[in-house]
Amino acid sequence: MFEVNQNYAKLPGSYLFANIGRKVSAYTAANPDKKIIRLGIGDVTQPLTPTVVQALKDASEEMAHAETFHGYPDYEGAAFLRKAIVERDFQPLGVDIGMDEIFVNDGAKSDSSDLSDIFSLNNKVAVCDPVYPVYVNTNAMCGRAGDYDPATERWSNVIYMPCTEGNGFLPELPRETPDIIYLCFPNNPTGMAITRDQLQVWVDYARKVGAVIIYDNAYEAYITEDDVPHSIYECPGAQECAIEMRSFSKNAGFTGVRLGYTVVPKALKSSDGVSLNSMWATHQEMKFNGVSYIIQKAGEAVYTPQGRAETRQLVAFYQKNAAAILSGLTEAGYTCYGGVNSPYIWLKTPNGMGSWEFFDFLLNTANVVGTPGSGFGPSGEGFFRLTAFGSYENILEALDRIKKI
Ligand SMILES: *Cc1c(COP(=O)(O)O)cnc(C)c1O
Repeated sequence: MFEVNQNYAKLPGSYLFANIGRKVSAYTAANPDKKIIRLGIGDVTQPLTPTVVQALKDASEEMAHAETFHGYPDYEGAAFLRKAIVERDFQPLGVDIGMDEIFVNDGAKSDSSDLSDIFSLNNKVAVCDPVYPVYVNTNAMCGRAGDYDPATERWSNVIYMPCTEGNGFLPELPRETPDIIYLCFPNNPTGMAITRDQLQVWVDYARKVGAVIIYDNAYEAYITEDDVPHSIYECPGAQECAIEMRSFSKNAGFTGVRLGYTVVPKALKSSDGVSLNSMWATHQEMKFNGVSYIIQKAGEAVYTPQGRAETRQLVAFYQKNAAAILSGLTEAGYTCYGGVNSPYIWLKTPNGMGSWEFFDFLLNTANVVGTPGSGFGPSGEGFFRLTAFGSYENILEALDRIKKI
């Protein structure tokens, strides 16, 4: 009789968005005439840009002819795309990353979970609290997180690094030494960014204790401030200790197209000298058959001058929304964080309300839906996430309603 992986049974389940859905459905059933405005979504809302759409069509047309048809792609990604990535994402930063250090994938989520496969189960993971839930849950699924305690909402074998108002939502170096450190900046959910000097502290620390940093850089396109790094490799020494993940989802609107990449530098070695680059190449060769040629051509188009101009406009659209939310809520007397280098605004609930209490209050009084901060971890309690994805008009209307309550 077969047995299943018991680690799956330990997962707490993702009741955050299910709970939100239930509460909103109940409210709309009781108040069918009310217009709900959703500022809780973590998905882009604008369509693909013309240059990307053209590239998709052209590549599809190529596939329709024997002479230009493409079969299995290279599992590490097409050379044309990896070349564009190296030349556009890293060379302008003065960062020397080779094409053979880039692994193209179907988005950052798969690799942020699959990377946990190449490390020993004895390794200890450190994460921020609040956090994007994928990092912890996938380590739990392979048996590295220990047991889940619903009372504290914590896994027994995970090091949590609280990100609070007190530390400016930046984690402090943990007291217990981790082996794998997940960092995401600009951050989801807090919307806060890290400066180059602050990130350097983590790079130096990781090298000192022999830890690897898994750096989720999905929101790089939203960076506006000069002292915020566009890649962890801007920090000297990072190629010896860090893996970086990028995604085309939040900049070029590829959430439904699926494309991303992971950088695994050749200089990154385990304590016994094993190259993570060659391990990851093996992982991808054995478990992945590459990204569709058509999608990779669309990704290449994002790096053309016209594609880049259109992507900048797309990001500017959401940045304008974020700025409107930030200034509108501040005017209304709320304390807000994030929103400057990120499409996320992390707002402090008024009068010491709990995150869910504020969710109900906002739904009932303003018919506005956001995401309770406590859903991302215990340190998110007393905070609330609003996102800049959506229409400008809806955001203005939401702010208007919030100002009136
Ligand atoms: C949206 C997001 C991603 C991107 O995921 P994809 O799989 O590339 O769409 C990665 N990390 C975080 C924290 C995100 O919010």
